[in-house]
Amino acid sequence: MTTRGELADILFPDVHETVEELLHRYPKRTTDKVLRFAPSPTWYLHFGGLYTSFVGWKYAKQNNGIMILRIEDTDQKREIEWAAELLISALQKFWIEFDEGPINTNEEKGEYGPYTQSKRGDLYKVFAKHLLSQGMAYPCWMSEEKLNEIREMQMVSKIIPWIYGNYSERRNKTPDELLEKFHEEGDTFPVLRFRSHGDTSKKIVFNDLIRGDISMIDNYNDIVLIKWDGLPTYHLAHIVDDTLMGVTIITRSEEWLTSVPLHLQLFNAFNLPAPQYCHLAPICKLDEWKKRKLSKRKDPEANVEYFFEEGYPAQALLEYIMTLADSSYEDWQRENEDKSFMDFQFSIEKMNVAGPLFDFVKLQNIANIYLSKISTEELYNQWLEWAEKYHTELANLMKKDPEYTRAALNIERHTEKDPKRFTLYTDIEKNILFFFDEKWPEIKWNKPEFPENIPLETLKAFAEDYAQNYNLSGDVLTWFDQLKEIGKKYGFAANNAEFKQWGFIWKVGDLAMFLRIQLCWAKQTPDLFSVMKVLWDKRIKERLLDL
Ligand code: GLU
Repeated sequence: MTTRGELADILFPDVHETVEELLHRYPKRTTDKVLRFAPSPTWYLHFGGLYTSFVGWKYAKQNNGIMILRIEDTDQKREIEWAAELLISALQKFWIEFDEGPINTNEEKGEYGPYTQSKRGDLYKVFAKHLLSQGMAYPCWMSEEKLNEIREMQMVSKIIPWIYGNYSERRNKTPDELLEKFHEEGDTFPVLRFRSHGDTSKKIVFNDLIRGDISMIDNYNDIVLIKWDGLPTYHLAHIVDDTLMGVTIITRSEEWLTSVPLHLQLFNAFNLPAPQYCHLAPICKLDEWKKRKLSKRKDPEANVEYFFEEGYPAQALLEYIMTLADSSYEDWQRENEDKSFMDFQFSIEKMNVAGPLFDFVKLQNIANIYLSKISTEELYNQWLEWAEKYHTELANLMKKDPEYTRAALNIERHTEKDPKRFTLYTDIEKNILFFFDEKWPEIKWNKPEFPENIPLETLKAFAEDYAQNYNLSGDVLTWFDQLKEIGKKYGFAANNAEFKQWGFIWKVGDLAMFLRIQLCWAKQTPDLFSVMKVLWDKRIKERLLDL
């Protein structure tokens, strides 16, 4: 008579280690706050994924814990080849530093790896074999047609669905019977199933960090543990990976909440302690006044790449996510203006059970405050990094003379009248393009009209005079006084009183507008005096005389 242990040896001939040995293979964790972000490489980084990773990372950081990145690529049907690389690099752009995990698709850091599931095949088999040897799992040969047949029959007869009890062909077979079938099938078995208790009326209560105690129907389904391709299902991989990596808190999306009874059953079957679960509600948006989940198909912003392309600063996006994760952050931020969200103690337990609403206005407001606060040097560096990827032509232009570019960016920043011009990196282009002579041909055709009624001759005469005599050595008032003086010679009143009294035809305001258009090719520009100080002599002269 074949024992279960012998059957397990025959079905998993290459597995020589035991679960016990694996449990002792890795160093003991020195913290009880170990979290992970475990994306599947099936798409770009989803905004919801960024949210989940941020919550875990922030919680780990503020509790001196560990944050792991793990790539879950065992569902090869859904996997996309480039997605893992893209996920890793998208996360790196957010400066979310993982303590352990892949750095790119070839390298990783940490002592609990590999951190990519497709490289962990042998480990899953050790656990699978263990369950088989304990009678807690069994090989199954039920065909797709058979499974469909059962599903339909259960539906029509209103029977509780899935594979359990008598609906499973082999859950009650002896090792000898299973072995016989194994040989009959040419020494192969397509899938390994978990032997659940099969009681459809049983309930369990478990605790979720956000939702408190939850009562649910217990799992009764003999789910698949090892699939036809030899790889584990998510459920087995979750138990194996989170155990061997010493993960203590599972922050994951709400869609997994209903799987908790199954996962607890699996931990129990291995006699392993279960982690603390924490299921995050999905990010939602209002669509015609109805709240719905952010959708890959309908919402471009579901893809984090969208924010990069649009020029949102990564740090602002993270800060915005902090507001989504903890609504008390905004009040705290108002009282602690000079602190960052990294100084804020957020409580995962107080997160909302309902999905937070995505709000572009709030995000842009945060982005504006963020870009206004950082140093001009930092603004230039971040912008350049962005432009190198999304706007190479402009990046090349602006790195030609970094000091000039920084001076142009710096106008009015961090002063009392700072207009906080930049919300996105794309705003930078609009605001400082005119500083670059190379851009003149492109902008020229769009140059605004000069103030009406001023003959070109008058403007030319003024421009020639001014090009020779303008003076930037004093402050803005001295500069303006000088402009008024020169303007007078050409019929521009210095103020309203003069205008009325002496019958001037134009005002100095018209002159300033002319200067603005002639020097910046735009009607709205930053403070003209500051602009001239950046453009400096050669450019000022050339532009003034180009009439
Ligand atoms: N790989 C699973 C997913 O992307 C995640 C699960 C988890 O965090 O446990 O949905």
